[in-house]
Amino acid sequence: MMHVCVSVAEATLGEVVKAIQSAQQMGADLAEVRFDRMERLPEDLSPLKNIDIPKIATLRSKTHGGEWDGGVEAKVRFLRRAIRAGFELIDIEDDSPLMQTRNRELRGADHIISHHDLITTPSTSKIIELMLHGSAVGGLPKGAFTVNTVTDLHNLVTAGKLLAMTNRRFILLGMGELGEVTRLRHQRMGSYLTYASLNPGKETAPGQLDVATMKSMEKGIIVGIAGNPLDHSYSPAMHQSAFAHLGIAGRYLRFPTAENEVEMLMENMRDLEINGMNVTIPHKESIMEYLDKVDDAAQKVGAVNVVVNREGRLIGRNTDVSGLAQAFQAAGADVEGKRSLIIGAGGAARACAAFLQGAGAALTITNRTHARAEKMARDFSGHAVKLEEAKSGEFEVIVNCTPIGMEGFPSELPIAPEVFRPGQVVMDVIYNPEITPFLAEARARGAKTILGKEMLIYQAMDAFEAWTGQRPPYEVMDKAIRAEQ
Ligand code: NAP
Repeated sequence: MMHVCVSVAEATLGEVVKAIQSAQQMGADLAEVRFDRMERLPEDLSPLKNIDIPKIATLRSKTHGGEWDGGVEAKVRFLRRAIRAGFELIDIEDDSPLMQTRNRELRGADHIISHHDLITTPSTSKIIELMLHGSAVGGLPKGAFTVNTVTDLHNLVTAGKLLAMTNRRFILLGMGELGEVTRLRHQRMGSYLTYASLNPGKETAPGQLDVATMKSMEKGIIVGIAGNPLDHSYSPAMHQSAFAHLGIAGRYLRFPTAENEVEMLMENMRDLEINGMNVTIPHKESIMEYLDKVDDAAQKVGAVNVVVNREGRLIGRNTDVSGLAQAFQAAGADVEGKRSLIIGAGGAARACAAFLQGAGAALTITNRTHARAEKMARDFSGHAVKLEEAKSGEFEVIVNCTPIGMEGFPSELPIAPEVFRPGQVVMDVIYNPEITPFLAEARARGAKTILGKEMLIYQAMDAFEAWTGQRPPYEVMDKAIRAEQ
């Protein structure tokens, strides 16, 4: 069971009481009152006496991300009153002078010994040292660390795993967007509880979710995307919309991942029970060695764009291939026996070759680096030609699989326009912009065109289905893309 502590930051005691009552109705198991966030410290704490979930009194110092800048004596006086008013737990920062005197001065409640790193996450051994110290002095240790990278996340998860072996209670969580997964999967982290805000917008720490979302995620699905950069990806919007439309409790998270962090992220997937992952540039190939199985389609392409976590076994798939197949099918374009040209020899081109070969088309490949076109031709029983030669060929299907024409790249054609003919089927895998110069020119010359967005949507629908067992409507994903444009 999730153990959710709502962290309440309200200006007055009346609002604090109301907030805790609402949080209780939403399923909160504990309440932390952030007294440092109140207009002034209340004289009379008796309105809180009737609240029947455990309460934590916190006067978070400015140096720990809070608002309290009063002296130690004022803090002690107030925390004593909180204990008398029935607070079961009080929060003491691990570098506070109160660490020396707390056992004498703050009897009658348990002590959370909290450590906050507002900048970064230290090494696993340092996290363990900090937490064991809190435990050794008889408190409930709490560590909240800012997670900036997948390495930070891995350090934190590993520390949680090792600390869990000690059978001691601790609270461990990550702050920031990359820390969100540690809050959602707090039990997998070994953490005694997870914090939540009352409502969206009422967060008391970066990466905190509201209590209703947290509770709804008790059995929720977590998926995400690994790659670098991820800023322009439509995948978070598409999948989050699909979760909402189908009424599935789910979160889609971004995991900006460096080359040396792919293995760590896969370990995190197993440890935190992250259900699925999209994989994008530059990891589609390198990720394969860290998976338990790679399905036949992905083997054939030599790239994985989707990872599915089946009870700890990570399975690599390639829904770019099935996405392309559905894009052609939706356009009513049958490629069997058709002379087809692929421009490019990278990951998208290989997915396209796998689809066209599987569908019985005759393959010609052209690429800036000819040796790569030749390699691809061998792998997919095709024929490699130089760009100059390709432009005078007679093709019934042409697919651009280079980034030429994509936003941020020169607005040019990847091949001379003479290659286009009326009646051809021409696709560009680029989806940003929707109509590339390549597609505009093909249309102007009478070709039938298929947008890269079609592939993007169908590959996402297949991925979502692989993760959740449910298929989202095309229109929901399309609308999500439009909202992002
Ligand atoms: P990739 O593996 O890096 O391959 C890029 C290919 O484009 C290579 O063949 C490369 O040639 C060629 N290329 C790159 N810059 C070039 C230039 N300036 N002039 C000529 N050729 C150039 O990339 P990828 O994963 O295949 O992605 C390619 C495109 O497909 C991207 O725009 C991506 O957004 C898009 N895509 C779309 C979808 C979708 O769902 N619609 C899915 C995947 C990818 P060399 O071999 O000579 O380097």
